[in-house]
Amino acid sequence: MADSEAFDFQIARIIDVIRDTNATVVGLQFPEGFKRRASGIAHEIEEATGSQILISGNPCFGACDIDVDLAHRVDILFHFGHAVLDDSSYAQNVYFIEVRSNAEIEKVVNKSLKNLEGQRIGLITTVQHVHKLQAACEILRSHGKVCVVGKGDAKIAYPGQVLGCNFSSARTEPCDEYLYIGSGYFHPMGVALSTGRRVLIADPFVNEIRELDISKVLKQRSAVIGKSLDATLFGIIVCSKPGQERMQLALKLQNMIRKHGKDARIIMMDLVTPDQLLQFKVDAFVNTACPRLAIDEVGRFNAPMLTPPELEIVLGEKKWEDLVFDEITA
Ligand code: SF4
Repeated sequence: MADSEAFDFQIARIIDVIRDTNATVVGLQFPEGFKRRASGIAHEIEEATGSQILISGNPCFGACDIDVDLAHRVDILFHFGHAVLDDSSYAQNVYFIEVRSNAEIEKVVNKSLKNLEGQRIGLITTVQHVHKLQAACEILRSHGKVCVVGKGDAKIAYPGQVLGCNFSSARTEPCDEYLYIGSGYFHPMGVALSTGRRVLIADPFVNEIRELDISKVLKQRSAVIGKSLDATLFGIIVCSKPGQERMQLALKLQNMIRKHGKDARIIMMDLVTPDQLLQFKVDAFVNTACPRLAIDEVGRFNAPMLTPPELEIVLGEKKWEDLVFDEITA
């Protein structure tokens, strides 16, 4: 991640909220990339409001990942770096502080023009840059392109926003190709697999255009599927975090596995890591927790870790050509 100095943590708004609500105990929760700013931000808030600050030390990977235990212990929990999800009602006293990036995008969008081949360009980004999509659209339009910023489903807070588990905004309207504004590879990979279209990455932090190549991840997924073909016992992972829990899907997958004459156990856990799964003896895992896990941690589990769409391929319910990233849609 780029220097977090370039992000707006909305400290003045946080102080106003604390004063308006007379909160005396305040929780702060940061995703991994912003944790190094936690101490300084806590100090600023404490100085201004006199409130007792508790910082969540637990891992935090997304808007789905609210520290519910901390939320119950404080008057207000400020959750940084993500936009609210449609189903976050389990934590009523949580304020989402989106942490918008101050990075200029004009230069890199202008730079992308010579690499764009299609006419209808789908613009996609994460919540950090979503406020800059209008400006990006204007640049594309002024050069004769049609700019598409899809609304997405109910999990998506802003048009054009994508999550690591939801690419619905890219599918709202057909596009010739996509321009992703941001620095990572995971979201554009999901869009490429979900739409079958070319995705260019416009990285505003280093002013660089990169053509996305999904061949490496496809090779990895093909290897994971190949290693699971002879599996007879599966471990289906269900995450107990309220925003990630997909028990219904797990039960459906268990039934599907059993219909094919194989067996499956459901393993429920909070934090899913290779170490936590080390002692379970199964032939393959199927992950219904955060869809990024199977992709980001590939090769680190003691048995192949499939996504639900990949399990369907292993069981012969779907073909390799049907492969998509797993999504949590509304
Ligand atoms: Fe992000 Fe994963 Fe949560 Fe989706 S499930 S919001 S990708 S952490």
